[in-house]
Amino acid sequence: MKIILASNNEGKLRELKALCAREPQLRSLQLLSARDVNLPQVVEDADTFQGNAVKKALAAAKATGLIALADDSGLEVDALGGRPGVHSARYAADASGKSTDEENIAKLLQELANIADRKARFRCVVAIATPQGQVWTAEGTCEGEITTQPLGQGGFGYDPIFLVAGLDKTMAELAEDEKNQLSHRARAFAKALPILKELVRAKQQLEMDSDT
Ligand code: IMP
Repeated sequence: MKIILASNNEGKLRELKALCAREPQLRSLQLLSARDVNLPQVVEDADTFQGNAVKKALAAAKATGLIALADDSGLEVDALGGRPGVHSARYAADASGKSTDEENIAKLLQELANIADRKARFRCVVAIATPQGQVWTAEGTCEGEITTQPLGQGGFGYDPIFLVAGLDKTMAELAEDEKNQLSHRARAFAKALPILKELVRAKQQLEMDSDT
């Protein structure tokens, strides 16, 4: 059975494959990426992570006729009222509409320059949709605080300035599999697995019933 992950991010695909491989009922799933099936680009214009994840998953499921997963994530800083939030990827964008990770980090550090409350979290929402338009969501967070300068070389995005709660390390100082144990995305995907399992079981049952 094939399902779609509506993303071209190889890291996300690897992470989801690893999670599915641990589950006997999901081991036989063939996970395809947006690139594998030429998915059209979806405009992420919702004002919540959930809105964007649902929009992407429904579009992918309708376009392919397969069960589709999509995620949306970002960084929320308490002292900034939850910003950058859904605007995390393009937080420092100018008229071109684009910004680099370094520019986003510089903007955030500048905004927090005189602020003592550095509490923040990464949040991720995973949506699972069927071609018939049913949709489920699951959410994961990872708590931490914003450092005063970048530390570490790993990861991407805001990882070098995100000190993980309970660890004396930024996300960028963790090995990939360490990050994948505690990240907001790993937690959201892990919560989504029971939904996926149930959908796979129901689809297989339907196929068996129609064979008899
Ligand atoms: P997306 O949901 O993968 O599109 O992520 C949106 C943006 O949120 C990214 O471009 C990053 O700036 C930020 N972000 C999401 N997840 C992470 C993470 O695990 N580490 C660092 N930044 C992240």
